[in-house]
Amino acid sequence: MTKDLAKTYTPQEHEDKIYKSWEESGFFNPDNLSDTKGVYCNILPPPNSNGELHIGHVSGYVVMDLLGRYQRMRGKKVLLLPGKDHAGIQTQVVYEKKIKKEKGISRHDLGREKFYKEIYDFCIDRADYMRNQERKIGLSADWSREKFTLNPDIIKVVLETFVNMYNEVDDQGKRMVYRGERIINWCPRCGSALADVEVEHEEQSAKLYYFKYSKDFPITIATTRPETKLGDTAVAINPKDERYKKYIGKVYEVNFCGVDLKIKIIADRHIDKDFGTGALGVTPAHSAVDWQMAQDNDLEIVKVINEQGVINKGFADFSGKNVLEARVLIVKKLKKEKLIEKEDEFNNNLSVCERCRTAIEPLVSRQWFVNVDHKNFSLKQEARKAIESEEIKIYPVKFKKVMLSWIDNVHDWCISRQIWWGPRIPAWYKDGEVKVSIDSPGNGWTQDEDTFDTWFSSGQWAYTTLGFPAGDDSKEYYPSNAMVMGRDILPFWAFRMIILSLYRTKQEPFKNLYFTGLVRDEKGQKMSKSKGNGIEPLDMIKRYGTDAVRLSLMIGSSPGNDMNLGEEKIAGFRNFANKLWNINRYIKEHYIKHAFPDDDHLREITDDTLADKWIITKFKKLINEVTKDIENYQFSQAGEKLRVFTWNEWADWYLEVSKFETNTNKGLYFRTIFKDLIKLWHPFMPFITEAIWQSWDRKDVKLLIIEKWPTLDRYKKIKDDNSFELIIEIIKAIRNARAENKVEPSRKVKAIVYANDKVSLIKENESLIKGMRTGIEELEVKESGKKPEKAIFVSVGEIEIYLIGAVDKEKEKNRLKNSIERLKQLIKMTESKLNDKNFVERAPEPIVNKERIRLKEFKEEIKSLEKQLDSF
Ligand SMILES: [Zn+2]
Repeated sequence: MTKDLAKTYTPQEHEDKIYKSWEESGFFNPDNLSDTKGVYCNILPPPNSNGELHIGHVSGYVVMDLLGRYQRMRGKKVLLLPGKDHAGIQTQVVYEKKIKKEKGISRHDLGREKFYKEIYDFCIDRADYMRNQERKIGLSADWSREKFTLNPDIIKVVLETFVNMYNEVDDQGKRMVYRGERIINWCPRCGSALADVEVEHEEQSAKLYYFKYSKDFPITIATTRPETKLGDTAVAINPKDERYKKYIGKVYEVNFCGVDLKIKIIADRHIDKDFGTGALGVTPAHSAVDWQMAQDNDLEIVKVINEQGVINKGFADFSGKNVLEARVLIVKKLKKEKLIEKEDEFNNNLSVCERCRTAIEPLVSRQWFVNVDHKNFSLKQEARKAIESEEIKIYPVKFKKVMLSWIDNVHDWCISRQIWWGPRIPAWYKDGEVKVSIDSPGNGWTQDEDTFDTWFSSGQWAYTTLGFPAGDDSKEYYPSNAMVMGRDILPFWAFRMIILSLYRTKQEPFKNLYFTGLVRDEKGQKMSKSKGNGIEPLDMIKRYGTDAVRLSLMIGSSPGNDMNLGEEKIAGFRNFANKLWNINRYIKEHYIKHAFPDDDHLREITDDTLADKWIITKFKKLINEVTKDIENYQFSQAGEKLRVFTWNEWADWYLEVSKFETNTNKGLYFRTIFKDLIKLWHPFMPFITEAIWQSWDRKDVKLLIIEKWPTLDRYKKIKDDNSFELIIEIIKAIRNARAENKVEPSRKVKAIVYANDKVSLIKENESLIKGMRTGIEELEVKESGKKPEKAIFVSVGEIEIYLIGAVDKEKEKNRLKNSIERLKQLIKMTESKLNDKNFVERAPEPIVNKERIRLKEFKEEIKSLEKQLDSF
């Protein structure tokens, strides 16, 4: 008994049921799959467990799931390992905002322990919610192996890595992780150091002050932050600058607004002679560039601002004031002493905290760093080697260069954060002594207050998740086959994962690294909550179904490039899903009722039609190309080829043509190809393909997810034959000619075809040519002949086609007259334009020429129409 299928596909009726049956089958867990064809592993990037999934997450997941499903069908033992990230600073900021809003309290009201516990529960709750969203996307991940970055077993490995790096000492006593004073990006709001990549830039208008430290100082400098000048220890000038050359090397003792400074004049070729006064006041403690100059020139480092954004002791009246108050006071004082020469407004880039948008205060601070170029094991050199040698292959290839240049410019990595959320640094202090160990060294030792930069733990995700070093999974699945991530986290995550994995496991973390672009709105703008232009993936899934959302993210995007997405595109793919559903309804009703294809090889038999041979030829090519495209990470290309085949070749032609053909193997061909086509579609549209697969009412049909990926084997005995294309071209040409000549659809016509050597081919397909909406009643086919009068003429290659009786004489006369009238108007307008001196002289040459060409074309067209009119 076959059950009738609904006329339209309703995703809501199928998706949850199907997902449940997949989960219950156990096939998401590789332990239930055989490894005769090898293993395939993809560790999924853990989303931050403090919110919900956005469209960017989904666009990555659909790629990862596509790869997983494809490899599972290739017979591999597939592990997609899911997880969640505690996301250090970001989650702490989210949670602090939440308790502020809901209870009016800060983390200090709760205290470290309680605050940590509350965030932990919050993250677990969000993780549950997000896991259900991930299921909705159809993610075929092994949930029994899911990890959280704060699982004790994960933390243990992360801390061990830190301890190992601390114990990595070179022959000069330098450690791979060290505690040191360095200039860092400080967020006064978060109260924490930030990595360079956690800093963003916002354009702002600022005031640039031109002044001298004191009356007896020879050089005027310019700055937007006069309050930091309390910490100046040098003035840098370009060594080629004739104005200042003579001062190089001199030291001046000056009194700047009541504070004594010692200023050395130094030369630095990076100074722009034309910016400001061409001289730069060097403030080593509060500018990263100046810090570097201080290192190179052995300058004193004077800390002016503390971690609360307040001026330190020892700076006269300014001590205790915040930076803005101090700025106002200094400007006032400089004005009073007539030291300010001028003030300019200009636009500059303000560095802000990526998480809370507060202005960054560069500070010198004591932090933990990773030496990225250590003598025993240079993290950056090893990473460079792995990428250059393509031990790690990068897709798209243009990101290889980005990655290498990023590696070349990387500085030591500050890994301590002054926050409470995250694993605490396992360093212990007692009486000025430091010990690094996972457990406390004993009584009286206090642990470092700081926690790790979140990327120090997620950077180890590739192996911590697999139970490195002793776990079975680690032996079986490491290094993984592919890592997929958004291009925006290349410097944050990809690089860190590579260096930490190379150090800890002495192997690359993955063999292939694939970057997705960002998803933008339909106008190409960045999606954001405040702009309200975001696309909520779960809303879209509810409205259009998961498969439509997946396709809209996969087709029309190229690797690593941003893509635009609007609701319309998703709706379009919903329609496509419906089309596929209806193709199945038709095939099921006509061909799958009583028989289901086995996997035998197809054989040509005598009554095979040209259409059969053609569709098999096309399908062989499709299997080949889709497989190759997926292997090469060209998912959009693969999906587009599938779409074109399904909609155009399969539905519009083969299926329509079949209504005129009843040869022996027709049913077999339909079943075999459609069965394989559904398999090819499965990684892209898992739900509807599974629903179609299950609709065939066969007891021996198992789940589609573990069916074998189609190969050419079954089709190879059928020779390639594309001659049917000519029949398609003829039918299309006749349809187009009718449309162009506005022949009413109901009007029947006669066609005379002069076919050269193709006479018998065309005659054999006479009923098809007549049947396929060409409106041809009578078909005369000859090798060649005289040109008939008053016929519409079209050609396909060497073949001439004349349509006779297509034209209603009166109507056609009127149509021609109207067209001629319209053209006359156009000619008049164009001529007057070209007679207008203003236009001809002022408009750019190509535009004027274009008008001239148009005029010529109009005149030619009118001649041809007049000729046609004469013939009536
Ligand atoms: Zn901040």
